[in-house]
Amino acid sequence: MGFFSSPIKTMDDLYLHTLQDIYYAEHQITKALPLMVDKAGNSALKQAFKKHLGETEKQITRLDEVFKILGKEPKGATCPAIDGIIKEANELMSDCDDTEVRDAAMLAAAQAVEHYEITRYGTLIAWSNQAGKANIAKILEQTLEEEKATDQKLTQLGETNVNKKAAA
Ligand code: FE
Ligand code: FE
Ligand code: FE
Repeated sequence: MGFFSSPIKTMDDLYLHTLQDIYYAEHQITKALPLMVDKAGNSALKQAFKKHLGETEKQITRLDEVFKILGKEPKGATCPAIDGIIKEANELMSDCDDTEVRDAAMLAAAQAVEHYEITRYGTLIAWSNQAGKANIAKILEQTLEEEKATDQKLTQLGETNVNKKAAA
């Protein structure tokens, strides 16, 4: 348990904590993505980051809606995992001298972010359904689909474009 987080005693506490975790993560992602948009040399990659920044802002709005349905104040709980993934991405970005290699590094880092989100939303959807909150599961499924689509788009961009250029 983090110093400033509430104790987790019940499944409801854990559910709320996990929502706060992804709420924090999405906010950190909206702060990290503009730098990645800025640093991306490949125009398709830049476009993909830009698009996902817009989606991420919408995803935060969806989480606000979920908190509202639960009658809770929207609040984040520090997520050391996303902090670590973003820190690693930033370090790699500044360590890569070659633009095309940096693009490949950023693409890989962005996929790590998407995979973290996919696990969290997958879990939250399962727990929502188990608790009879199908309405919340439905909202979160929209976001999960966006995260999966982004991951797939990045895979395709890597295979057809970014990774090839970095290796050339
Ligand atoms: Fe997201
Ligand atoms: Fe976390
Ligand atoms: Fe995402």
